[in-house]
Amino acid sequence: MPQQVSEACTRHLELESRIGGSEAAEEASEALDHTYDAVASLLHCDRGEIALVDSGTRAWNMAFYALPLRPQDRILTAEVSYASNFIAFLNRKRRDGIDIDVVPSDASGQVDVVELERRIDGRTRLIALTHVPTNGGLVNPAENVGRIARAHGVPFLLDACQSAGQMPLDVGELGCDMLSAAGRKYLRGPRGTGFLFVREDFMESLDPPTPDVHAAEWTTPDAYRLRSDARRFELWESNKAAQVGLGIAADYAMQWGLETIWQRIRHLADDLRSRMADVPGATVRDTGRTKCGIVTFDIVGHEAIKLKRQLREMAINVSVTVPSTTLLDARARSLPDLLRASVHYFNTEEEIERFVGAITQIVS
Ligand SMILES: *Cc1c(COP(=O)(O)O)cnc(C)c1O
Repeated sequence: MPQQVSEACTRHLELESRIGGSEAAEEASEALDHTYDAVASLLHCDRGEIALVDSGTRAWNMAFYALPLRPQDRILTAEVSYASNFIAFLNRKRRDGIDIDVVPSDASGQVDVVELERRIDGRTRLIALTHVPTNGGLVNPAENVGRIARAHGVPFLLDACQSAGQMPLDVGELGCDMLSAAGRKYLRGPRGTGFLFVREDFMESLDPPTPDVHAAEWTTPDAYRLRSDARRFELWESNKAAQVGLGIAADYAMQWGLETIWQRIRHLADDLRSRMADVPGATVRDTGRTKCGIVTFDIVGHEAIKLKRQLREMAINVSVTVPSTTLLDARARSLPDLLRASVHYFNTEEEIERFVGAITQIVS
């Protein structure tokens, strides 16, 4: 988190302990309210189209489980679907009898858009796409998919957890009806934050799965009325300190400029990928025509988890991505556990050099 973000969270927690939780929320109402504007600016949508929730997964689930789906309804998705999303598909397959149709990747590794369009039929109720997968540098052609979804009148749900804060996102250009994202990833927001965009004219097609006293008003003993905006996908209780911090994180990203951030990240990631080619036994695994800041690789004869530990001792943070997070893609490409090094704009060429030097030293 940038310092401004962590300070904003800490200040709010201190205020809560000094004057009380509800009182602090009242006092911070402007900052809390501002977070909706900041996230809406980030996505180029209306503030009424934003719900603030506690994770990217919650945001995605709120949209997915709000879709009315019946037996034989079909959802189209891609090979790089994130595990939690696919588990939800399987859950609704078991409960609601839906069919899941996985569109294969093309030769470049991105979702095959021609095949995707070919598979749309009268039973297709949703296209659910992961923009940037958790297991590699691929950027899926979300805009093309959005155009196809619109042309056929099929709802489009985009999982932008890894792309939010990394590249410009404009829900109009993306052509999505719903978009979910996490605050804690490239956006550099607090953990336990996420947000959901639902297009205003699509709102009524969805049935919020867990309406509460904040999402709806209990109007008569046997009826309730949903609020009109996207906050019908929220719950009453939330982490206000984190919510304030999320707004500051979105402001901060927009101050640098998403286009500037995106260019800088791609420059650093390209640099890292080309330097990794010189590391003995290393294979970079990122696919796709457009590649982002996530760089994944494995090294023959070296366990990813052990490499991660050794790098950690040198104060270098990487993560390990295991096949089960992106099972279909991992199986199609016979992927082992991969090391994932995510560069951000604040990284430097010197750090990349040091990183590659450290890896080379460990494996030589
Ligand atoms: C991390 C991630 C999520 C989940 O976000 P959380 O905020 O951790 O729930 C969803 N989809 C993708 C592609 C991710 O990488």
